[in-house]
Amino acid sequence: MNSSDIKTVQTLLSTPKSIVIVPHKNPDGDAMGSTLALCKYLIKIGHKATVIAPNDYPHFLKWLPGHEDVLIFNSSIIAAKEKIEEAHVIFTLDFNDFSRTGDMGEVLATSNADFVMIDHHQQPSDYAVVTYSDTSMSSTCEMVYHFLDALDATDQIDADMASCLYTGIMTDTGSFRFPSTTATTHKVIAHLIASGADNSGIHRNIYDTNSYSKLQLLGVALKNLRVLPEYKTAYITLSQKELDDHKFQKGDTEGFVNYGLSLKGIIFAVIFIENKADTIIKMSLRSKGDFSVNEFARAHYSGGGHTNAAGGKSDLSLEETIAQFISILPRYKDKL
Ligand code: 5GP
Ligand code: MN
Repeated sequence: MNSSDIKTVQTLLSTPKSIVIVPHKNPDGDAMGSTLALCKYLIKIGHKATVIAPNDYPHFLKWLPGHEDVLIFNSSIIAAKEKIEEAHVIFTLDFNDFSRTGDMGEVLATSNADFVMIDHHQQPSDYAVVTYSDTSMSSTCEMVYHFLDALDATDQIDADMASCLYTGIMTDTGSFRFPSTTATTHKVIAHLIASGADNSGIHRNIYDTNSYSKLQLLGVALKNLRVLPEYKTAYITLSQKELDDHKFQKGDTEGFVNYGLSLKGIIFAVIFIENKADTIIKMSLRSKGDFSVNEFARAHYSGGGHTNAAGGKSDLSLEETIAQFISILPRYKDKL
């Protein structure tokens, strides 16, 4: 953040305000961790602050300190709309375009609040009075730490806030292994552990709470894994029936796409997941090196994200989506 942005934020927060904090739809560890940590800070310094998530979040995040107070937009529309209408300031975290909040986007777009964006995705939209956007950052949680640092407020980070921020940095960096992990990331992490984040316990909460049926579903996903060696590409499919047969719960397929990318020689991996209720195929795309899945998802799947991790959707059937995907790949032969 530049000094003028810091001043703007300081002015916005200089008197008690009603504040709403919003993560993206289908919030992940970074989205929930960053919003909950910021919410706790804002309450501590005297504001009325509420996290409103566009929709529900996975069970493995339902231990995060403060999560009980999160309002879910699509199941509490009236209360959520009221809060948004009352808000003087709205922080949008871990996304950079209202469309990433689903139906909630229309409500946000009509708000007269001052928006502050904190985000690390590419191509931010221009809706905020302060746009703190840095695509080189490991995570929005790391950015919230730097945001607090810019406000001289890292001494306010208590064990709850530290746990929230640690969670998002850990999940967005694949446990500190993706290239976005820097020496600064580790310094931030060191401070968070010193402030009370139980690193080992958090890892267990997130990664060691699998159900038997989820592991069976992983087995199906791995059986469905297909490799296209000439494009250094691997993909996985999961049909609605396969999900239903394994008592699918939100979050159960998180990380499955990485198995494709773990194959020797593969630099592009995709998982296609059928969602009959929304009549879409939801896709997660991952890459290694310079191949931009952000560009690929934007060009073909109304999606986006980062260079090496993006999401998107297809309105075709699962079979048609796969056929179309395979037909696109030759255009990218020189990049793959
Ligand atoms: P995931 O595959 O884990 O859902 O998402 C990977 C990355 O892409 C995340 O940073 C996520 O925020 C972003 N992302 C996922 N789905 C979409 C989408 O439909 N549109 C855009 N713009 N970004 C997405
Ligand atoms: Mn993130």
